[in-house]
Order: sequence, then C-alpha cells, then structure tokens
Amino acid sequence: MPTTSPVRHRVTVIPGDGVGPEIVHSAMRIIEAAGVAIAWEEAAAGAAVFRAGDTSGVPRETRDSIERTRVALKGPLETPVGFGEKSANVTLRKLFETYANVRPARELPGVPTRYAGEGIDLVIVRENIEDLYAGIEHLETPDVAQGLKLITRKGSEKIIRYAFELARREGRSKVTAATKANIMKLTEGLFKRVFEELATEYPGIRAEHLIIDNVAHQLVKDPAQFDVIVTTNLNGDIISDLASGLVGGLGFAASGNYGDDVAIFEAVHGSAPKYAGKDVINPTALILSSVMLLRHIGEGAAADRIEDAVLATLESGAAVTQDLARQTGGDVEQATSTSGFTDAVIGNLGRAPMATLARRARTPDPTASRLPRWDYSVGHYAAISRALVGLDIMLESDLPIEELGPSLAAVAGDTFRLEGVASRGTHVYPGEAVGDSVRWYTARYVAAEGREPRGRDLLDLLGRVAEHHRWTHVERLQSFDGELGYTASQGA
Ligand code: NAD
Repeated sequence: MPTTSPVRHRVTVIPGDGVGPEIVHSAMRIIEAAGVAIAWEEAAAGAAVFRAGDTSGVPRETRDSIERTRVALKGPLETPVGFGEKSANVTLRKLFETYANVRPARELPGVPTRYAGEGIDLVIVRENIEDLYAGIEHLETPDVAQGLKLITRKGSEKIIRYAFELARREGRSKVTAATKANIMKLTEGLFKRVFEELATEYPGIRAEHLIIDNVAHQLVKDPAQFDVIVTTNLNGDIISDLASGLVGGLGFAASGNYGDDVAIFEAVHGSAPKYAGKDVINPTALILSSVMLLRHIGEGAAADRIEDAVLATLESGAAVTQDLARQTGGDVEQATSTSGFTDAVIGNLGRAPMATLARRARTPDPTASRLPRWDYSVGHYAAISRALVGLDIMLESDLPIEELGPSLAAVAGDTFRLEGVASRGTHVYPGEAVGDSVRWYTARYVAAEGREPRGRDLLDLLGRVAEHHRWTHVERLQSFDGELGYTASQGA
C-alpha cells in the first residue's frame, strides 16, 4: 500500500452532468489509492444550476471555491437549450482567464488506430479566451449576423510563450504555429508575427509556421511529424478534436486549462447523456486529465504512477471499455464497466507498461517564465504615431447599388470622399457591381485630398449618412506608425 503523501491539497471538484459524476468518481478513487491526500471541495455547475435559474451556470459558491483552491477537476457540463445562452464551460475559462488549453495526443498501448506504430506524440496548445470565442456577435439586419474575431498581442504572446516553454521543459524540438494569416492578415497575421518574434528567444527549438488547413491535412497524412502545435481558439478547437481522433477518440482525450493562477482539468468529451448512470463510459480521458492535475500541484511521482497504471491496464487488454470494444470489433456485451476499469487501474498501481514512454509531461517550472514584451503603458502608446484616415459605415439598404453609391457619395462633404462601397467584403461601387446583394453594405469614406479629419468630422459624416440610411455600425480607419490598420475590400 502506498503511504499517503503528507501534503494535503485542496482541490475543487465539479462532478458535472451526464456521465460526469461517474468519471470524476473514478479519478478520485484512483488518486486516493495512489496515496495523494486531497481535500476535495465539491462544487456545482452546469445543467442543474441553469435550471435553478442561474443563467451563468456557475454559482457564486463554485467561483469562491476555485478562487480559494486555484485548481479544479471538472466533469463535462451541459448547456441546456433555453436556459441562458452562454456555456458554463466557456464562462469558467473566462472567469479564471485560463488562457492555455493544452491537449496532448499520443499513441496509447492497447488502443489500435490506423496510425499504430507511427509514434504520434504531440500537444496542441490552443488559445482559450480570444478569437471568435470572445462571443461578441451582433445581428446587423434580420438576416445578417456578424461575429468579431478578436486577437490581441498580449493574448497571442501569452499562449505562444506557453507553447515554447512547454516544448522546452518536455524536451520537445519543434513548435508549429497554425494560422490563417494568408487570409486574415490583421488578426491571424498578428498571431503569426508575434510567433516569429518570440521564436528568436528559443534558438534551441525549431519554429515553423503552417497554414491551418495544411495542418489539418498533414495531421491526417503524417501526424507523427508534429510536436507542439500552437494556434488561435477556433483553429485549436477543431484540430484538437481531430488529434484526439487519431489516437483512439474522445474516451482517451485529456486536457488542462491553465491560467496565471488557476488551472482547470477536464476530459475533452461532453456529458454523453445516453450513457449517464449506466457504468459503461470510458473514464480514461478524465483519469489522464487528473494526471495532468497532479503534475500541476507538484505530485509528479503519483502522476507518473497513475499514468503507468493506466497504460499498463490498456496494454494488458484485460479491461476493454465499450467504446474501445466497438472500435476494435470486440464484444460490447462483455466490455469492462467504468468501475471495473477503475478497479483494474488501481490494481495496476506500481506496475509500468512494457511499451516505453517517449517522454513524460513535466510540471511547469515557475522560474522559467520570462518577462513579457507586451506593454500597455501610457508611454508605449504615446510613442506610436497614429493618423485618422477615414470611416467605414456599415448600413442596411434596399436601394440598387447604382442609386446607393451616388447617394452615399453626395453626403461625403468637404472633408471626406467616398472611396467605395463593399458588400460582404467585396467592392461593388464604383464600377461594375459583382456579387449577390444581402441588403447590407460598407461605405468607406477616406480623407479628401489635403484634409486631415478630426473626431468631430466623423460624427458629422455619420449624422449626414444617418439622415438617409439605416446605419448599423461604424469603424474608425486609422494608421499606426504609418501602417494601415484596416484591410482593403476584395477587388477594390
Ligand atoms: P459528447 O462528447 O458527450 O459525446 C460524443 C460521442 O462520444 C457520443 O457518442 C458519446 O457517447 C461518446 N463519448 C463521449 N465520451 C465518451 C467516453 N468517455 N467513453 C465512451 N464514449 C464517449 O458530445 P455531445 O453529445 O456533442 O455533447 C453532449 C453534451 O455535452 C452537450 O450538452 C454539450 O454541450 C456538452 N459538452 C460539454 C463539454 C465540456 O464540458 N467540456 C464538452 C463537449 C460537450
């Protein structure tokens, strides 16, 4: 029997919805059997909380508990339709600024896949706060919806540094940045630029940039070429599920959400409601997430023992859960239950798998964090020269473009001229109109020859446009240190 560790950790545990309580219970039993003393603070979140009328899905007591413990093990949370619009999962990530979503994907013994033997061992590091997941969306007209893709230097720098530091401490040799910078030059382009800047601080690690669609293609064709992949939120969401599929599926996919002071560990999968309460779900994903948790709280030896026991259990083929039986054409009726698998892992504590591990994940070393480059001081901004170039006004209109264009040009006044009108990013006026109208346009006004518009001029212009047209939003056109802070319309 292992002796219980003298350190007693406090950890918040959220059993969650559907199969959540079963898999969380499994991980807690294994941690206890491995001799780690944890005082669990049980907290609620998810479906029952929404139904009780809390539209955030995360009650105050749960937030307080995580603020106290700074670490949580969490079961999947359901977002029931019709009880508030925001996901409790996303709320938790945002409340605690867990900006780094880390999802390892590696070949597991006893889990046959079409890539078996290729030695897949990669980690996807996904930015977890920004991008389209900032959730800033507006209906511009009844039929035109818009979402804001938000990328910041600070957010990019934090996640990219996280990825390089992870590579360094795990002895990994390459970090691949995956972006769509060729199309989204300002947003994904900023992420790529920051990656290229920071890569110079890590000369021992190969840095490469690939376009995200090529990464998807390469992941399917030759996944073993990847080591660490760092990417923006939406890209990361998609390719990390893809990566889980390469190594056995959702039943095996673990994850950690790391912030500056809080970390939340969870399986990648959801609440699998059809299996709830049946004792048939594969608990491996949450057990491996709890291994990440143990490393985070400094219980590396226990983490290694549990990881070894899980791998030895899978390798033995003696405890095959339903999902794996289905994948391998085995007998689903005879499959091992959730509790049976848990017992098998506990029985294997102290055993090592025969297959040698390529590497162990390592606990972050707090002394390794480097000073950030981002600077939001007044002085920093004062040093950047900026110029007001014009105004984009988005508006709804039923006029044919041959009438709308001249009508918008007529109200430009002396300070501005109408440079053009675009529809869904494509130039439609002046010149030959192309595209299919959706009744929503962007009028681009730029400073007239020899004029330097001021803030007041923008408001006057907007007032003149508003007299004739239903505007929906505006964007100030600026340049920073001489570089344009906006993109041209397609075909302009
Ligand atoms: P899901 O992950 O629950 O299920 C997808 C499929 O995988 C189902 O066939 C399911 O039975 C199977 N599966 C999932 N985990 C498994 C495991 N451990 N072992 C064996 N099979 C497993 O996804 P879904 O059905 O799209 O979502 C169900 C609910 O979960 C939704 O309310 C969704 O919002 C929520 N969800 C929560 C999280 C989270 O809390 N992080 C993540 C995804 C989905």
